Amino acid sequence: MPSSKTRIAIIGGGVAGLVVARHTAAKLDTYSLTLFEQTDQVGGTWIYTDETDIDKHGLPIHSSMYKNLRTNLPREVMQIPDFPMKHNEGPSFVHHSVIREYLWDYAKHFNLYPHIKLNTVVKHVEPDTLPNGQTIWMITYEDLESKIETTKTFDAVVVCNGHYTVGHVPHIPGIESFPGGIIHSHQYRVPEVYARKKVCILGASWSGMDIAMEVSEYAEKVYLSHNLPESVDLKMLENVEQRPGIQSIQGNIFIFRDGSTAEVDNFIYCTGYKFTYPFMSTKVEMRTDDNHVEPTYKHLIHMDYPNLFIMGLPGIVIPFPLFHLQAQYILSILEGRIKLPSTEQMREEYEMEKKALLDLGIPLRHIAKLKERQWAYYDEIAAAANIPSFPPVIRKIYDHVDQMRELDLTAYKNYQYRIIDDENFALCYCKPC
Ligand code: FAD
Repeated sequence: MPSSKTRIAIIGGGVAGLVVARHTAAKLDTYSLTLFEQTDQVGGTWIYTDETDIDKHGLPIHSSMYKNLRTNLPREVMQIPDFPMKHNEGPSFVHHSVIREYLWDYAKHFNLYPHIKLNTVVKHVEPDTLPNGQTIWMITYEDLESKIETTKTFDAVVVCNGHYTVGHVPHIPGIESFPGGIIHSHQYRVPEVYARKKVCILGASWSGMDIAMEVSEYAEKVYLSHNLPESVDLKMLENVEQRPGIQSIQGNIFIFRDGSTAEVDNFIYCTGYKFTYPFMSTKVEMRTDDNHVEPTYKHLIHMDYPNLFIMGLPGIVIPFPLFHLQAQYILSILEGRIKLPSTEQMREEYEMEKKALLDLGIPLRHIAKLKERQWAYYDEIAAAANIPSFPPVIRKIYDHVDQMRELDLTAYKNYQYRIIDDENFALCYCKPC
């Protein structure tokens, strides 16, 4: 007898996959779920490893976590709304191992492990159409221990494979002639290896700035090369010099766009990541030009297949709480409580929104970087799913952190935030870690 339950496949056991599993597992009368995770642990990005190349099964290392990383959001904002983080003394910007423990506690608390297949990689996702026109999904996965490959059918797929593994590496004329060490931030682990070296870091986004700060404690000199219109305020870091983008490289001499040069021993690309879905059938159109994934509606739903969902597309957001809303929104769609417009209407609406943003001068690759637009997005999907959005205090803390970061990038992580009520928070300064 075929099951009358909706069969949900979740690809990836990082926080996005766990949150979708948590909400699905709360309704086991309606759903059967399988979460596929290729590594031997859940947590995704938050599983630190010294390895940078391949894992014990020969798969590329997934996590880009580095040894000393502390979160860039305070735990009071990062936490999943229905599973508060333990409040400990010390700064709110915690070491990555605290988040790993938190995610493991989450999986245990919501009894998710019975639904999780560890050491299991999804290799192929293929749509099929039933005579009644409904799309079902054939998922082929390999048990990496036994090497057995299996194909099973599901009614809905939630893609949670993460977006920070495959490095974007722009070509720089002359890079082949550079004799020094080259890595992408995906492979960066510890700063000590740069002791007394002259290091060039390309890119001044999160990882570029963070890595520049920690490497500068050991390196003789750090050149932070970027195309931002203004210098980043890196107070007190006397051995960090900012330069424009790199024009070319000749041996160990880097030539920057302003004509200045520098001798370099080691080079770190902090140039972001590429979004990839290597398991997806070519039947399913998934354009990822400029890391902008199309055709998706509300940065989540595949417009041609409204039972295929892609988590984690919005950038400059509060990812864990966002997943909490998106997961419930997905279930509301599957349960028919949210009625999506037709594919044509979704496309029309999406194209109008996209055009409006492009007309404002926002490039395609930044359309899903919600930043100021994130709060309206949360409210919209929460209202559609008939669940509470976030209380005002979350935005207040987020905005406060933004201001503190602007004021002093090297010190903002020394503060502790405490939520008093839905509107108010308290702040105190902790001794630097
Ligand atoms: P991931 O955590 O990447 O998980 C994806 C999972 O899918 C992995 O476990 C992977 O093994 C699995 N997988 C992939 N392909 C397959 C397959 N084919 N079959 C089976 N399993 C598969 N966010 C914050 O909120 N605060 C921070 O301070 C912060 N710092 C960050 C620092 C770094 C260095 C990076 C890279 C990201 C940081 N982020 C931070 C963003 C972070 O990525 C998100 O918060 C969140 O962890 C993303 O979760 P995810 O589940 O989408 O992806």
